[in-house]
Amino acid sequence: MGEEETELERRRRWIERAAAKTRPKTVRCAKCGKEVDEFMEIAGRSLCLDCYAIEEMGEGSAMGMPGEGSGGG
Ligand SMILES: [Zn+2]
Repeated sequence: MGEEETELERRRRWIERAAAKTRPKTVRCAKCGKEVDEFMEIAGRSLCLDCYAIEEMGEGSAMGMPGEGSGGG
């Protein structure tokens, strides 16, 4: 019937909104190297919305990785 939004899609939605508040500065993604206008900073790195969503999912995923807690900068 309809198309289901994946977890990644949903995250991207709100991430894009949040990114809209950031300064309109073109930066290069520290992960994929793509130049983007909208980016998010994570762990001191600038990631494009795609990579940011993936990173977020990877860390918060229930894959069973030994998390060391949230590392503040
Ligand atoms: Zn990227």
